Amino acid sequence: MVCLINYRRIMPEGPSIIILKELILPFKGKKILDATGNASIEMDRLKNKKILDIRSWGKQLFLVLDKITVRIHFLLFGSYSLHEQVKPDKSVRLCLKFKNGTVYFYTCSVRILEENIDSLYDWSADVMSDKWNPGKARKKLKDHPQLMACDALLDQQIFSGVGNIIKNEVLYRIYLHPETRIQHIPPRKLTELINEARNYSFDFLKWKKEYVLKKHWLVHTKKICKRCELPVIKKYCGITKRRTFFCVNCQRLYPSNV
Ligand SMILES: [Zn+2]
Repeated sequence: MVCLINYRRIMPEGPSIIILKELILPFKGKKILDATGNASIEMDRLKNKKILDIRSWGKQLFLVLDKITVRIHFLLFGSYSLHEQVKPDKSVRLCLKFKNGTVYFYTCSVRILEENIDSLYDWSADVMSDKWNPGKARKKLKDHPQLMACDALLDQQIFSGVGNIIKNEVLYRIYLHPETRIQHIPPRKLTELINEARNYSFDFLKWKKEYVLKKHWLVHTKKICKRCELPVIKKYCGITKRRTFFCVNCQRLYPSNV
């Protein structure tokens, strides 16, 4: 049975896509009865095709059909809903109707891929995948010694699925200043960074499913550091310039003499 979700769920981080995948699982093996929306793809190519598989990579969802794959990239503000009672507005990018329900995608990029997706994506870069490879992530980090930790965590080729909340919480968890450059992070700390990117993503998934995610934020959007009782800094750090929350007292900037 498909759950009824009438409100739009926003998808800013990778773990949320796992939730979506589970929600739309009842459509796997089912035929698309109708495909509509303002996405610039040939909708007719989707009609009467069966969903053979549902996969994800970071914040991207793949609906695998016969010979083609529909790629939905949720970017920064993508959202979805299932079985809307009210008539969906004109902003719907893609609406897929099945015998057992309907799914709506908003504010996302929709494309039809002709290639085999296994040849297009590095599945070992997805922090939530069974194929996640921490050794490979370490090698990629070493290839970018100048990169700041805050930018490295958001790099989808290294940590696919990690978004801004996960970035802030991981750095706080491991006591690392977001502007520390990869080349200055001690090896053991680098291991922590790689491991916690995955660990926190699974915590995120668990808390999100229980609707208690925000309650567990330690630094994201906070004003005071729980550990030091000192003000949390809010700064648009690095080349990515995303909102970064951190404590300069307990999150160490390496090398320490800078
Ligand atoms: Zn602190």
